[in-house]
Amino acid sequence: MDAVVIDGKKVSEQIKAELKVKVESLKKEGIIPGLAAVLVGNNPASESYVNGKARACEKIGVYSEVIRRPADITQAELETIVRGLNQRPEIDGILVQSPLPGHIDELTVTLTIDPHKDVDGFHPHSVGMLLLGRPTFRSCTPYGVIELMRRYNIDPSGKEVVILGRSNIVGKPLAAMLIQKAAMADATVTVCHSRTKNMKEICRRADILIAAMGRPELVQADMIKDGAVVIDVGINRVEDPGRDKGYRLVGDVDYEACRHKATFITPVPGGVGPMTIAMLLTNTVYSAEQRRLKA
Ligand code: NAP
Repeated sequence: MDAVVIDGKKVSEQIKAELKVKVESLKKEGIIPGLAAVLVGNNPASESYVNGKARACEKIGVYSEVIRRPADITQAELETIVRGLNQRPEIDGILVQSPLPGHIDELTVTLTIDPHKDVDGFHPHSVGMLLLGRPTFRSCTPYGVIELMRRYNIDPSGKEVVILGRSNIVGKPLAAMLIQKAAMADATVTVCHSRTKNMKEICRRADILIAAMGRPELVQADMIKDGAVVIDVGINRVEDPGRDKGYRLVGDVDYEACRHKATFITPVPGGVGPMTIAMLLTNTVYSAEQRRLKA
């Protein structure tokens, strides 16, 4: 039987509709959640991500502000902008869009963000709290993976989860989330990377296989076990002269081959992708709710 297709677009719309209700209730108490994005340079992909985030904010009633600066901004200038945003009470979330120009030390910029406004979940404070199993901002893409599973009643408790990829924004935080002694966690987690030996054998053990490598369709049907849940975080452009744009998007999983063997599978696009912004909004609204509690 074919796998159930996990519809990330639909789930992300549900989340946004739920957030809109929360935002309306916050507004009744005089609080408008606010998100500020700092965009450095003119990378078209970053521009499009930031615009997408701003549009999503607008749709649910969250105030959004984009601060654009040229690529030759200095480290000190960028940090001054972030410190200024830290001081503004109406800004609940701050994100500095990466990649940043080579002369900028990204970690130091992240460290400048007030951890109470770290809606991307990249600040070492958030990462540390996550590891300790304490409430904190969770980085948006892995948080989106967990939320997708939750909404499809896929409970990782006691399951063998194999994560392909160990980046700081996806693989590592996802592993940290899934090993917690907590709901939607309690999994036995293996993290693979480019130096992993016998990856195929390791993948075949997985009850839940999560691919986040940026390697087009590397996961083939012979790498998954019958009945596995397959979550594809990868987004890759592959040449396709048949398309107007000259390319199409594929994941790290060979979707057509694997969907006959899996029980659940995420498509690309339309799987994990739309969840990232939904979880960024979730973090921003959560941050505004904390502001209300402190008021
Ligand atoms: P990244 O920083 O490049 O990390 C890739 C990871 O995959 C690294 O840990 C690397 O291992 C590992 N890897 C690469 N090739 C491998 C191979 N052949 N076998 C095993 N492991 C391999 O990438 P990322 O930022 O985590 O992103 C991963 C993918 O997710 C990309 O396609 C990206 O576009 C996508 N993504 C999607 C969203 C979203 O849906 N919103 C968000 C973020 C990322 P080493 O550590 O050994 O180099």
